[in-house]
Amino acid sequence: MTTHEPPRIGLGTDLHRLVEGRRCVLGGVEIDCPVGPASHSDGDAVLHALTDALLGAGGLADLGTLFPDSDPAWKDVASSVFVEKAIELLAERGLVPLSADIVAQCDRPKIGPNRDAMRNRIAELLGLAVDRVNIKGKSNEGMPQPHEAVSVMAVALVGPKLE
Ligand code: MG
Repeated sequence: MTTHEPPRIGLGTDLHRLVEGRRCVLGGVEIDCPVGPASHSDGDAVLHALTDALLGAGGLADLGTLFPDSDPAWKDVASSVFVEKAIELLAERGLVPLSADIVAQCDRPKIGPNRDAMRNRIAELLGLAVDRVNIKGKSNEGMPQPHEAVSVMAVALVGPKLE
């Protein structure tokens, strides 16, 4: 691949129910919160959406296909593993992450107080400067929800690795 090839964008989303007593890990950061995402893995919906955005940008199969929740290998695994594997698959195609932007919607935990820690951790995982990664939180505006959940959208830009 030449370095003249334009970057590619990918979109990922994820949704996990939040349940009492589950460890709460979002954006690779453990948060003190009475509820956490229910999942086969650690349930980090932020990193799941980000992984799907990276895979999508690379024209690769999606998270659920590559890392099925029926596979015991992924039971309770740290979702940073999925991001790292997506980066490996991109690298095989001469691609690297260039930037990412993420929105997490939930009433709890609050994203704001954890934003810097998440941003730093995601930048570290992607091998990017912190100013190339963003994350912000949105609430449900007080509207009643059928189930408490965290919903995430992520976009990622990937492009040719510069020689
Ligand atoms: Mg997920």
